[in-house]
Amino acid sequence: MKQYFQMIKAPRFRLVHDEHRPLSDGPAPRRIRLNREGFSIVPGIRKKTLVCPGMLLAEYPTLDKGDLHAPIYGTITEINARSIFVDAADPAAAEPGAFPEPPAPADLLQEGTEGEALVQAVKRLGVNTRSLGRRIRTLIVNALNPEPGVCWAEPMLSEHADVIQAGLQLLRRFGRAEELLLAVPRGAKVSFPGVTTVEVEPMYPNSVNELLIREVTGEEAPPDVAAVGLHNVWSLGRVGTTGLPLMETVITIGTAASWANTIVKNGSLVGELLEFANVSLKSGDTLLRGGPLRGESLDRLDRSITKGSYGFFVVNAGEVPPIEGDSPCINCGACIQACPTRIDPRMLSRHAEFGKYDTPRRENFRLCVDCGLCGYVCIARRPVLQYIRLAIKKLEAEERLARLTPIEPAGKA
Ligand code: SF4
Ligand code: SF4
Repeated sequence: MKQYFQMIKAPRFRLVHDEHRPLSDGPAPRRIRLNREGFSIVPGIRKKTLVCPGMLLAEYPTLDKGDLHAPIYGTITEINARSIFVDAADPAAAEPGAFPEPPAPADLLQEGTEGEALVQAVKRLGVNTRSLGRRIRTLIVNALNPEPGVCWAEPMLSEHADVIQAGLQLLRRFGRAEELLLAVPRGAKVSFPGVTTVEVEPMYPNSVNELLIREVTGEEAPPDVAAVGLHNVWSLGRVGTTGLPLMETVITIGTAASWANTIVKNGSLVGELLEFANVSLKSGDTLLRGGPLRGESLDRLDRSITKGSYGFFVVNAGEVPPIEGDSPCINCGACIQACPTRIDPRMLSRHAEFGKYDTPRRENFRLCVDCGLCGYVCIARRPVLQYIRLAIKKLEAEERLARLTPIEPAGKA
């Protein structure tokens, strides 16, 4: 742990809060790609359907994800197992009445619908409600930027204070937590009515929810405390203040030359965002959806910004040594010392690499908080975090399958 505590004091792990970079609107998309995995397409939605902003396209069967809505006027050009593509269109250039009318705003901020019914209402408007809290004593709103390089938390709290206020109001009316805390960077002057502000050191990985809870309460994984990200509260507030389905997300677009906080339409293509940011790619550059430490690399310019995305970064060729999938572990132990949850990323990644998921390892995989520090410090450039993520996905798939497979009655051959 000594290395971990030394490392997180390094300036590169500081979470930006005092450099104000305003939130501005992103480009009007020419094409949209929405992720529909696990969603059921609603009747009447098919290829060539004309859509309008806010139109319901697909529903998610559980509260884990909000339903899916079109963020623009356009025509559906393709629906496949993973995505819905919409090409933008101008309704003024079409026959009158060709496009459906956008939905009327819902008045969620008006008291009336409360508790679980309110949770269901915001889910239908597209907000992911799983992380908005189960029934607990304390819910902590995590107002730190999620990773170094991402910098929208400060303008969200100041410029969009009304949106955050609306999000907090809805969160309280869900009735799931007895107490609401707002965790802000030490020294930040932020307060909202009815919410207790607590200060934490703005150093990564304190922004990872599990570690933030430890910072705030002094306890590891207390059973009656949960955390929710400010990004999610913004989404909730956006739906509350507009009354419309969630059609946008806030991302930091980061390149070697600049960072900007941008409100983009869900499903915006990364290629169009690069054009908007005036960035031309060079051979060997890497695109990251998410942040520099935990983001996933993208292989094509028609990949898109999904609802929960909080960043989009270009890492220039040569800035970081490439990760080698088959490079062997040299047992240096750096990842073990860097891991804030004191599990053994070295052995876990090796087990994942060779498909060994025995029972004790299962529990350890679950303790990973996905901070990415193990991969960051690995001098052998092993994709440690990616191996662990793969293992977790496989274990989840196995568990899903086990739930679906009927157990043979005893004695049956
Ligand atoms: S990603 Fe997981 S295994 Fe790696 S350092 Fe973070 S908590 Fe530990
Ligand atoms: S940091 Fe990399 S090389 Fe060192 S023990 Fe961990 S996985 Fe192996």
